[in-house]
Amino acid sequence: MKVIIIGAGLGGLCLAQGLRAAGIEATVHERDPDITARFQGYRIGLGERGDSALRACLPQALHPVLDAVKGDLAGERVRLNHRLERVSTDPPALAVAIDRHVLRHLLLSGIGAHVRFGKAFTGYDQLPGGGVRARFADGSSVDGDLLVGADGINSAVRAQLSPSTPVEDSGVRALIGRTPLTERFAALVPGFGTGVSDGEVAMMLGLMRFRVLPSVLNELAPELGLPGVGHYLRWVIMLAPGHPLLARPDLSMREIALELTRGWHADVRAVIEGADRDNSVLLSIRTVSPAERWPPGPVTLLGDAIHATSPSGGNGANTALHDADLLRRKLIDVRDGRVPPAGAVDAYETEMVSYGAEAVAHSLRELDRFRTPATAR
Ligand SMILES: Cc1cc2nc3c(=O)[nH]c(=O)nc-3n(C[C@H](O)[C@H](O)[C@H](O)COP(=O)(O)OP(=O)(O)OC[C@H]3O[C@@H](n4cnc5c(N)ncnc54)[C@H](O)[C@@H]3O)c2cc1C
Repeated sequence: MKVIIIGAGLGGLCLAQGLRAAGIEATVHERDPDITARFQGYRIGLGERGDSALRACLPQALHPVLDAVKGDLAGERVRLNHRLERVSTDPPALAVAIDRHVLRHLLLSGIGAHVRFGKAFTGYDQLPGGGVRARFADGSSVDGDLLVGADGINSAVRAQLSPSTPVEDSGVRALIGRTPLTERFAALVPGFGTGVSDGEVAMMLGLMRFRVLPSVLNELAPELGLPGVGHYLRWVIMLAPGHPLLARPDLSMREIALELTRGWHADVRAVIEGADRDNSVLLSIRTVSPAERWPPGPVTLLGDAIHATSPSGGNGANTALHDADLLRRKLIDVRDGRVPPAGAVDAYETEMVSYGAEAVAHSLRELDRFRTPATAR
């Protein structure tokens, strides 16, 4: 069996790792010219679902590295006012954090020769004798038995397979910042995470403190080639649809954040002023929910391409990784002759569409919880 995967995001790479480890031929085709293109490095909260999927797909030899690059999130969630006085404390929580850019590098380990960059997928044709042909913007094409669209929220595979599945724009915009961690900033997040609010604007702060810095792991194992990312503080401010500051193209994301937090404690303002410009962005909160099933065939979808959540849910990557592991298991059934290919893909889609829709619904409920008077107006 030959599997063509479109998109070298978390889901596509995780699937490629899992399939290749199972002896199933899989190649990934990625539009970006290389893995460092564009803003890629934000912190992801990894739950049991995502972590166990990663472990199932990654070779055992990489498990110690996976554990080493995580960050521990433990303790109470603290709520502060804009003068940094404690307002309330939520019960302790426990999870791990991982940096998306670092994780993508780890997911490339050992399969780099099967990942083609600079390949923008444009469309597919089902072949008369079964199978599928994927076409790319550079005029090339590739044939396989199964095409998996793991090409994110604007999926070109979805556009052809399920054109009536819409992308919904919540209108909410998120300022996502990353600031190198200092002891002064670390003190703002004594536990799992910290919310700071003046009653109008709310800012969420979280730590990405690697158990072992990627640069140290590179010294131990240079072949890993992990990016030299340092510890950082991740912060998020949500803006309501139509917020007046969104109509100010003259302002950078950093300037908008400073404007919103005018009069706040100097430590919070210093976090914003110290933001790493390459990895701090204004994001549109858009979602895709699987609305209808498409006719079964040699094309399927995975991750944000079919169930794109709002980051407020903290579940998009976990769900994409779970998809990869589920599809891997179904295709192993095909490899072992237990199920025909069409039955395996159908079984995968039946499960995935159901929990994928629930993941999106959960993230939208959480988006409501994030709304402050400022984001709701
Ligand atoms: C700020 C932020 C914080 C988040 N926090 C969390 C969190 O804490 N927990 C969590 O579980 N999730 C979180 N998420 C969501 C998570 O990042 C996504 O759900 C996840 O990365 C989706 O993975 P994916 O592989 O489906 O898609 P993507 O990671 O979007 O990858 C898609 C890939 O396809 C490529 N591509 C696109 N079009 C084409 C084409 N035509 N041809 C070839 N390649 C193409 C893209 O370049 C990209 O590399 C967060 C998201 C954001 C933005």
